Amino acid sequence: MVAAPGDEGRPSGPPLVGVLALQGASALHLEALRALGAEAVEVRTPEELAGVDALVLPGGESTTISMMLERNELFEPLAERLAAGMPAFGTCAGMILLADGVLDGRSDQRSFAAIDVDVRRNAFGRQVDSFEADLDVEGLEGGPFPAVFIRAPVIERAGEGVEVLAEVDDRPVLCRQGPVMVAAFHPELSDDLRLHRAFLERVSSPRPAGAVAAPTD
Ligand code: GLN
Repeated sequence: MVAAPGDEGRPSGPPLVGVLALQGASALHLEALRALGAEAVEVRTPEELAGVDALVLPGGESTTISMMLERNELFEPLAERLAAGMPAFGTCAGMILLADGVLDGRSDQRSFAAIDVDVRRNAFGRQVDSFEADLDVEGLEGGPFPAVFIRAPVIERAGEGVEVLAEVDDRPVLCRQGPVMVAAFHPELSDDLRLHRAFLERVSSPRPAGAVAAPTD
């Protein structure tokens, strides 16, 4: 990123969105964010985390990502940023990491309790591998969202303060609480940028009210 002359650096520029890139599916998230005109960078260190305004936690293996967060001394700084209200979007394993409770996790697996949901790993009905579903998403214009689920976690409990934005078989699969959005699926695998756009809208105008993706044009 090149600062314009006279710039004192951020926060005067557009928001910088990080994608946690310790393990898992970060590349397509970066592509999606950049396709929407955002500045997006990989985050692997506490210094890189300190520079971003929002963070995507991608899919992968939540056990491995949890371990690597600790190894890279990122767990505590990220917990602090989330507690301070940094917008975050967790997809699949990323959702598990942001959850309050993790069932069927490894005993040493940690999560941030950034959203009041309990999740069970690898437990979406009998669909232990992968499946696709067209989701009706609350507030999202333009028809159903084509969602790809891969060894997806189930949301077993969503607290009162959690907005459930989409469900499959009466189970929440897309939720939001304040600045934190979680998806049990992989939105970066669909050729559809609407959920990334909805997340970015929260980053640039972090107001609690409003539709998930109020169209701007
Ligand atoms: N099953 C993985 C986990 O428990 C999540 C799968 C995914 O991110 N696609 O971490």
